[in-house]
Amino acid sequence: MKTNEKLIAMAIAAMIGITGCNSSASQNTVKETEKPIVQEVVTLEEAQIQEPIKEIDLQQVKPNEAGQIMVLMYHHIAEPEAEWARTPENFRRDLEVLYEKGYRPISLKDYATGNITTEAGYTPVVLTFDDGRQNNFNMLQKENGEWIIDPDSAVGILEKFHEEHPDFPMKATFFINDNIPFGQKEHLEFKLKYLIEKGLDIGNHTATHVDFTKADADRIQKELAGIVNLVGKVLPDYRIDTLALPFGSKPKDKSLMSYLEKGIHEGITYQNIAILEVGWDPYKSPYHKDFNSLAIHRVRASDLEKYVKGVGLYDWLTQFEKGSRIRYVSDGDPNTVTVPEKYQEVLDPNKVGERSIRTYTIEE
Ligand SMILES: [Zn+2]
Repeated sequence: MKTNEKLIAMAIAAMIGITGCNSSASQNTVKETEKPIVQEVVTLEEAQIQEPIKEIDLQQVKPNEAGQIMVLMYHHIAEPEAEWARTPENFRRDLEVLYEKGYRPISLKDYATGNITTEAGYTPVVLTFDDGRQNNFNMLQKENGEWIIDPDSAVGILEKFHEEHPDFPMKATFFINDNIPFGQKEHLEFKLKYLIEKGLDIGNHTATHVDFTKADADRIQKELAGIVNLVGKVLPDYRIDTLALPFGSKPKDKSLMSYLEKGIHEGITYQNIAILEVGWDPYKSPYHKDFNSLAIHRVRASDLEKYVKGVGLYDWLTQFEKGSRIRYVSDGDPNTVTVPEKYQEVLDPNKVGERSIRTYTIEE
């Protein structure tokens, strides 16, 4: 339930006398003979302000919202395991391990803007998939003619995992090119709409997977506007505002960098709020003074030593456990940034914005 819906439901529940522990149907009816219902009508706006934030035990939860966050990078979800392929089985295992170790997905847009709604005591993680492969979102036809989502494709796996673990939000971004994203032209419209309906995101990976080191201003804008145009035809209200750099490439001419962020081509404009590199490590808290939403590092979601020795997903999980990297731990309140006292100095008041800062001292 969204917060608003929850509040309305709570208000209604209060008015008709339902309490959390009264679950039997007979108790859910209004007893008119009992004292009249004089319930204060709370407007939505007031309710939002008055919504109590769950008190947390700081010493127990040990929130640190100056800690780091992993943006995981996947490509193919397919057999066999390879440099740019994760098998369905391994992808499921990644999700299971992340879940067990207290990581919970958030959207890239929320990471970039510092809107962290992760439950108290848990660590946000961002899932990304590049290249819009068919094995990211594949449709299968059953014998009776019905089309279903391939349970071994990324979307199928994410959906199943979320069903089994409702507290593991189904959040991920699929970065697409204009080569029939996810294959299967006849299902393209369905797929794009489905992703957004489910709360997943579509990101820009350029029309032709261009190498930006070789592109001029015109080409850069054409490449980026191309994806905005493609998605806009199906989802006119959806904003494509995140970019994963193909090959991690950037223009050699630094004066062209601004076109990665915003531009226009044939009347189609774009403005990116997050740009992802093909980095190798967890990245900073969105409130950190050195956080740059236009140069976000990623972690390769692989454990193939040949390619990611020391810098793969499992290596960083170990580093976080050892404390050689400091992990972001949420306080559960998106409007408050909580950090142990010594981390206050790394916070950037501009990035913290309207949120309030709370510090505390960890008792040894
Ligand atoms: Zn790519």
